[in-house]
Amino acid sequence: MKLHEYEAKKIFKKYGIDVPKSFLIKKGDDVELKEFDEAVLKAQVLVGGRGKAGGILFTNKENFKEKVEELFNKEIKGEKVDKILVEEKLRIKKEYYLSITIDRNEKKPVIIFSSEGGVDIEEIAEKHPEKIIKYYVDIKKPFLPYIGREIAKKAGVEIKVGDIIYKVYKIFKELDATLVEINPLVITEDNKIYAADAVIHLDDDSYFRQDFSEFEEYKNKENLPFAYVELDGDVAVIGNGAGLTLASMDTIYDFGLKPACFLDIGGGADEETTKLALKKVLENKKVKGIFINVLGGITRCDEVAKAIVEILKDNPNIKFSVRLTGTNEELGRKILEEANIPYSTSMYEAGKRLAESLRFSL
Ligand code: GDP
Ligand code: MN
Repeated sequence: MKLHEYEAKKIFKKYGIDVPKSFLIKKGDDVELKEFDEAVLKAQVLVGGRGKAGGILFTNKENFKEKVEELFNKEIKGEKVDKILVEEKLRIKKEYYLSITIDRNEKKPVIIFSSEGGVDIEEIAEKHPEKIIKYYVDIKKPFLPYIGREIAKKAGVEIKVGDIIYKVYKIFKELDATLVEINPLVITEDNKIYAADAVIHLDDDSYFRQDFSEFEEYKNKENLPFAYVELDGDVAVIGNGAGLTLASMDTIYDFGLKPACFLDIGGGADEETTKLALKKVLENKKVKGIFINVLGGITRCDEVAKAIVEILKDNPNIKFSVRLTGTNEELGRKILEEANIPYSTSMYEAGKRLAESLRFSL
């Protein structure tokens, strides 16, 4: 889950990292610039490189309203702007780059620091690879403040940058983040240090021990009781268990079909969950057929069958094929037979039947 810049900066502040003075405005708010003479308007959209995409505007008291309107009317890399963070413009002397993420090859958190910040890290890596410092964290040892200071020393920058590195690591660890990035980390003309930008990505799998409730992306998200990933094809694939769902995708590929989604209703899915899953895929107008593959373990075939009957009643024209086997198979079969819905206990046969029925309509 990605946090907006203003949300990430609230966290920075809490951890003692200085951020510019600011206030947040929403589309439709009628506001003037009183607090500071010169301001930076920052579109709160969840994409990187807003500066280059026109999402960062500089303004003053005179042209404030105009610029605000201009930014609200823009789309930044396809995202609408409905909030703007108004910040006091900093007098920047130097810009650094700092991030912490997980290095999957090393299987360790990695701290990346560069004294050439402000631009894309890819650009720094290309032009000044010698200016990028990587430090792999040994998670078995405590992360102590001196480690931050050593990185700062190695980079040849102000030693107080080390304090920021220490605090950023604390955030990374305590919040179960997958990325914390400050680009640029700024030294101002009066030698103060500020996080001028803030990116935090949190690990969705840490929801059981973290409180996401205050974050926008979490609040806006549909809380579906299953894993759902939209894809490019036109056949919805529903299975129980990730492995079986992937195998179902392979099966329909073998018959020349392409999945419109991966939907894993999980182990123990009941009638309600199955209905929700079917409704979810039917919302997608691209979907021409549904392939549902359930191997009843904890999940009961009769529950799945009941859901199928209910949903197909309202959607009689959708091409549909079901493979159903396992717990309560007899009961499930009876429910489907009574409703005249063909089924199969073989994944291959069910896939083949769907391909045949679709061949005439695609
Ligand atoms: P991003 O493009 O999404 O990474 O957005 P940033 O918040 O990093 O802003 C883009 C660039 O605008 C930064 O790299 C800075 O060079 C510049 N910038 C942002 N805030 C200020 C500021 O307060 N003063 C000055 N002079 N430049 C700023
Ligand atoms: Mn930035």
